[in-house]
Amino acid sequence: MSATVSLAPLYQFTGWVVSKVSIRSNGSTVRISLRPDRRRKGFRCPDCTRRMGKMRERHREVLDLPLGTASAVYLTFTAYQGRCAHCGTIHTFRPPGIDSKAQGTDRLKRYVSHLCRFMATDKVPEFVFISTDTARRWDKQVLMAILPAPKLDGLRAILVDEKSIGKGHQYLTVVLNADTGEVLHLAEGKRKASLQGFFEKLTEEQRASIKAVGIDRAGAYKAVIEEELPHAEIVYDKFHLIANYNEVIDKIRREEWRAAGEQNKTFIKGQRYNLFRNPDNLKPEQEASLKELLAMNENLNKAYVLKDALKVLWTYTYAKSADKYIDKWISWAVETGIEALQKFARGLDRARDGILAFCKHRITSAKIEAFNATIGRIVRRACGYRDLEYLYLKIRQEALET
Ligand SMILES: [Zn+2]
Repeated sequence: MSATVSLAPLYQFTGWVVSKVSIRSNGSTVRISLRPDRRRKGFRCPDCTRRMGKMRERHREVLDLPLGTASAVYLTFTAYQGRCAHCGTIHTFRPPGIDSKAQGTDRLKRYVSHLCRFMATDKVPEFVFISTDTARRWDKQVLMAILPAPKLDGLRAILVDEKSIGKGHQYLTVVLNADTGEVLHLAEGKRKASLQGFFEKLTEEQRASIKAVGIDRAGAYKAVIEEELPHAEIVYDKFHLIANYNEVIDKIRREEWRAAGEQNKTFIKGQRYNLFRNPDNLKPEQEASLKELLAMNENLNKAYVLKDALKVLWTYTYAKSADKYIDKWISWAVETGIEALQKFARGLDRARDGILAFCKHRITSAKIEAFNATIGRIVRRACGYRDLEYLYLKIRQEALET
């Protein structure tokens, strides 16, 4: 009896009062019975406020927030459905914050969604008496309700990228706001249609505001962009170019490895990761062994020096100076006599306009790099990638909150 009194403040549903609390003796399950508050003297039509007469009744049991040792806490009540004799309105009376067919209260769903923000969905059942599937479904429901729609007005520049996920080399097409990093579109595949879906969401005005699109220079998206946004300039993005260059370094390293004697092989093998790091992040001992590697290997040394030189390209503000710098870089690459570098230089030459467009539009790749880190984490932790809509919501949540 005293338990009923003390628990009531935790179960405040306007128009309803706690009539009974039963707790299973082992403390695992609690049932809180709610009944209509007698003070409101019957049910009134929400439209015309006249009293509603005879009603259909349905007993409901809905999961609510955990309490003490009990992870299964049920609210039990009778939902009353009636039709107003005066105005014809049909209305169901039930405690607020509980949907018509929901298995859980709104506040429990929000709690579950909050847990899903910080832990893997398959861990949620350890805290709440639901399955992993239900945790995902509720998280998705909550996110759909609370996340704002993507801002498609006044976009200046966008980034389009393809992202491979999972083991089966599945691809996703991603569109980001290049300035804010907001995820605007996520679609399966890396085909024309995967990107076209994004442009279909835009009004004429929204299309017109986009002045620049950052893409991978090898991307399959170029044709769609030229078709859908004929006025926009295409910018080959730094992130992809550097990634391509890293592949070139990797190729040279493998060639050198094949040519190296047994003694040097172990040494080169361990250095692969170091080569791709920003030199500022290397620990002193890593830096020392990297220097040793470069000293004994002239080709790798050249490729590494040219990587730093390549990065300088994006520090230019004026396209004319950047243009001259590209010529310089190409001549250095040619001088090395290394075929892989010369091939990269030819590609750079072909991509020149798209690279120089950077000076004008200042699209940075930081947003893509941040996105790549985020999506990897979310796919692992939250939801896999089968439910694309959920994945999209989780990514949007992350991007909006950080
Ligand atoms: Zn009425």
